[in-house]
Amino acid sequence: MPIQSLNPATGQLLRSFDALTPEQLESKLALAAQAAVTYPLEPLGQRAFWMRRLAIQLENDADDLAALMTAEMGKTLRSARAEVLKCAAGCRYYAANADSFLAPEPIESEHAQSYVRYDPLGVVLAVMPWNFPLWQVFRFLAPALMAGNIGLLKHASNVPQCALAIEALVRRAGFPRGVFQTLLIEARQVEAVLADKRVAAVTVTGSEAAGRAIAAQAGWLIKKSVLELGGSDPFIVLPSADLDAAVTNAVQARLINNGQSCIAAKRFLVHTAIYDEFETRFVAAMQATVVGDPMRETTELGPMAMPSAVSALVTQVQAAVAAGGRLLCGGRPGFGENAVDTSAVPGCFFPPTVIAGVPRDAAVAKEETFGPLAMLFRVEDVEDAIELANDTPFGLGASCWTNDPEEQERLAEGIQAGCVFFNAPVASDPRLPFGGIKHSGYGRELSSAGMREFLNAKTVVVE
Ligand code: NDP
Repeated sequence: MPIQSLNPATGQLLRSFDALTPEQLESKLALAAQAAVTYPLEPLGQRAFWMRRLAIQLENDADDLAALMTAEMGKTLRSARAEVLKCAAGCRYYAANADSFLAPEPIESEHAQSYVRYDPLGVVLAVMPWNFPLWQVFRFLAPALMAGNIGLLKHASNVPQCALAIEALVRRAGFPRGVFQTLLIEARQVEAVLADKRVAAVTVTGSEAAGRAIAAQAGWLIKKSVLELGGSDPFIVLPSADLDAAVTNAVQARLINNGQSCIAAKRFLVHTAIYDEFETRFVAAMQATVVGDPMRETTELGPMAMPSAVSALVTQVQAAVAAGGRLLCGGRPGFGENAVDTSAVPGCFFPPTVIAGVPRDAAVAKEETFGPLAMLFRVEDVEDAIELANDTPFGLGASCWTNDPEEQERLAEGIQAGCVFFNAPVASDPRLPFGGIKHSGYGRELSSAGMREFLNAKTVVVE
C-alpha cells in the first residue's frame, strides 16, 4: 500500500510513496550495521561539529521545514516554525553537553581503579508519531548520534516528507552515510526490523496500542525499549492562583498543537471556591480562539491531522454528554464560531470544546482526548484534586496553579506523573528529563537521562 502525504486542511494529496521492498530494507539495515562499527570511532568533537551544523541548517531552512510540517499534518505555521527552532536548540544542547554526559565516572572502591564508562548500544530503531514531526525525532536523534549510536527512523505514515527531510538534513550536516536513515515502511514491517539481530534497541512515541505491541516484542527479544505514550494530564487550579494567568495558560495548554499533544492539559480540576469564575472565563477564551487555515499567521487552531481524529472526538463528546456532562461550547466537527478560513475544507476541523460535570467514574473522564476537547471538574481541596488527578491509567505530566508552598509540596509528592509544573504549562525542554509512568510509558528522553537510556553503563575494575 502506498504511504500517502495528505494535507488535512484541504484534503489534497501531496505525494505518495511506495514502502521499501525487502531488498531495499536489507541494504539500509546493512548500511546501518556498518555505520555502527565505524561511527563510534569518530571523535566526540567531530560529532559535535556535525551536530552544530545540523542546528544551523535547521535554522536556515526553518521556513521551508515549517511549511512542510503544516502541509502534512496541519499544525499552525507559527508553531511549526517554533518547533524547528526547538530542534536546533536540542542539537546545540547535546553538542555542548555530550562530553560531560559521556565522561567516565570514577567510583571509590578497594580496587586500584574502578569506574563506569558509557558505550553506545548500536543501531536504535525509532518508531515515531506525526504530532511533532520534527521534534519527536530530534529529541531521540540528537542524544543518540552524539553518543555514537545509529538511528533508523520509522516515522508515522502520514508524514513521509518530513521523515525524508530529516534524513537529508543529517546527511547535509556531514554525518557519515548510514548514521541516520529513514525507513519508509508500514507499521506491520516494524516487527521484522526489530527482530533483526543488527538492531539493538527501540524507542517508541505514540499510542498505548503501538507501545504495547512493540514493547512486548522487544521484551521477548530482550532488547532495550523506551516508551513515550499517551497522557491525560490534569491542570489543577487552586484559590491562591493568579486566575488571569491560569485561564490564559489553560487555553494554550489545551490547544497546543491543535490539541494533539501528549502533554496537553486535558482535564481541568478547579477548586470549588473559584470554579464558577474559571468556567465562565475559560469557555469565553476557548470560544474566542481563531480556527482555520493553519498557513495563516493569525490562526490559532488548525485542523486535526486526519479524519479519524475528528471521529474519535465526536465519539468522546457523545459519551461525555450521555454520561451527564454539560456541553458548554463546540462539540460538532467544523470551524466553530470563529473561523477565518477561506480555502480549507471542514472535514478535519473540530472547534474548541468544553464539557463540564462529567461524572468522575465515566469511562470517558479517564481517557486521553487528542484534540481541542477540555473537561472541567470541580474539586473540594488539594487532596481531592490529587485523588482525581491520579484517577486515570496515564501518568505523564501535571500543571498546577497555586502560590501556596505547602500545596505545591503536597502536589509534587502526591501526583503520579513523570513531571509536575507549577504556575506554568507542561513543556518539554532539552535540559529536563521527559517521560511518564503507568500507561504513559517508561524510560526518559532528554537531558543526560535520555542519552543514557541507549548506553551501556559498563563497569571497569583494574587491580
Ligand atoms: P500511533 O501509535 O498510531 O503511531 C505512532 C507510530 O507507531 C507510527 O509510526 C505508527 O506507524 C506506528 N505504529 C502504530 N501501530 C504499530 C504497531 N502495532 N507496530 C509497530 N508500529 C506501529 O499513534 P499516533 O501517530 O496516532 O499518535 C498519537 C498518540 O501518540 C497519542 O495517543 C499520543 O498521546 C501519543 N503521543 C505520545 C507522546 C509522548 O511523548 N508521550 C508524544 C506524542 C504522541 P503508522 O503511522 O504507519 O501506523
